[in-house]
Amino acid sequence: MDFDFVIVGGGVYGMATAYHLARLGAGSVVVIERDEPAAGASGGVGKRGVRANRRDLRELPLMREANRVWPTLHEELDGETGYERTGGTYLIEGPASTGFKGIDAAESYARAQSALGVPTELWDRDRVRSEYPGISDEVQAASFVPTDGVASHEATTLSYAAAAQRRGVQVLTGTEVVELRTDGAGRIAGVLTAKGEIIGARREVLLLANGGVRRLVAEVTGRDLPLWTIYPLACTLRTSSSVHIPRLTGHETRPLSVKMTGEHIMLSGGWRGRATPGGPEVVPERLRGNIEVLQRVFPYLADLEVITADASRAETASVDQIPIIGRCAPNLFVACGWSGHGWAIAPVVSRLIAEDIVMDAPSPLLAPFSPRRFEL
Ligand SMILES: Cc1cc2nc3c(=O)[nH]c(=O)nc-3n(C[C@H](O)[C@H](O)[C@H](O)COP(=O)(O)OP(=O)(O)OC[C@H]3O[C@@H](n4cnc5c(N)ncnc54)[C@H](O)[C@@H]3O)c2cc1C
Repeated sequence: MDFDFVIVGGGVYGMATAYHLARLGAGSVVVIERDEPAAGASGGVGKRGVRANRRDLRELPLMREANRVWPTLHEELDGETGYERTGGTYLIEGPASTGFKGIDAAESYARAQSALGVPTELWDRDRVRSEYPGISDEVQAASFVPTDGVASHEATTLSYAAAAQRRGVQVLTGTEVVELRTDGAGRIAGVLTAKGEIIGARREVLLLANGGVRRLVAEVTGRDLPLWTIYPLACTLRTSSSVHIPRLTGHETRPLSVKMTGEHIMLSGGWRGRATPGGPEVVPERLRGNIEVLQRVFPYLADLEVITADASRAETASVDQIPIIGRCAPNLFVACGWSGHGWAIAPVVSRLIAEDIVMDAPSPLLAPFSPRRFEL
């Protein structure tokens, strides 16, 4: 079985890039997924943050473009994305003794973000309290980006998958790629699956398999990308209190990220699960720690009941906390190392990857993420 493009990984990146390759009429495309679409970081309950606020500045040009795409993506895909432009807030605390030093940093971030096309406002104490009644007295200010929001990761990934398939992309589920195959000239000729089948790639193999990328690249190129696997913790909570968290909300100095999904609170913020021989698991003390931070910032949330807690979705982190996007061999394109924030930029990055490959025109927006940055 031969295709022009062989994509490994059926998360948002695999499905969205397949969609764009097909949209550009680039040739035949197959997506090979070990499990099922959205089985990894791009699936699961709730929504993910579509956040520009306090993102690495090198990613802001991508976010500016993503903010343009998200509101109408459901029309383009003719499928659900669950996108809502809630606006996004970063809360700032600073004990009076420090003279609210956080504000100086926030002003600088606001200037830099605004200059890069992400208009950012600063809110004072009163404004924060009018937006978040009942918030802790320790919160002194906030930076606010009106274009931030949330979207359903699983629904969007499945909408990309359906749109790709309508354009002729083949999706092989339950099929693990165990090895990349080269021809005598050092090109990647195709992939070997766990079923023993070789699937040939006439033009390019795209490794969009998140935690599955590092080993496959190392084995075929000898390059060990500076990546590791993390298991971000996310939970949903119920409360009898009336909740005033109207926006995607992060915190400058506390590990907290919170949003509403319907009537439930969705909570994360950099806490991690633990890898065990039986698979990743939720660590009860860390779940408690995450909830305690939420209650410290929103003290009225006294009664919280955990509905779901999940740390099973593997993500990759890179040493400099920005993604790795580019070629690791002449026809081997890699994208991974999202470092916990790959979701928001996926609609734009996937389009740029497809355009880069088809038109042989590398986008300057992807240049900062090249794997070459790790070479002398
Ligand atoms: C709990 C959590 C919260 C997050 N919150 C946010 C957020 O608020 N905002 C944000 O921007 N980002 C967020 N992220 C990050 C974001 O979800 C990911 O960066 C993004 O979904 C990665 O997409 P992907 O397609 O690269 O990877 P994945 O969705 O993980 O897809 C990779 C796929 O490859 C498959 N695969 C792996 N190896 C092989 C193989 N050898 N053969 C075949 N298939 C293989 C896997 O089964 C998987 O389905 C969060 C992530 C997690 C886990």
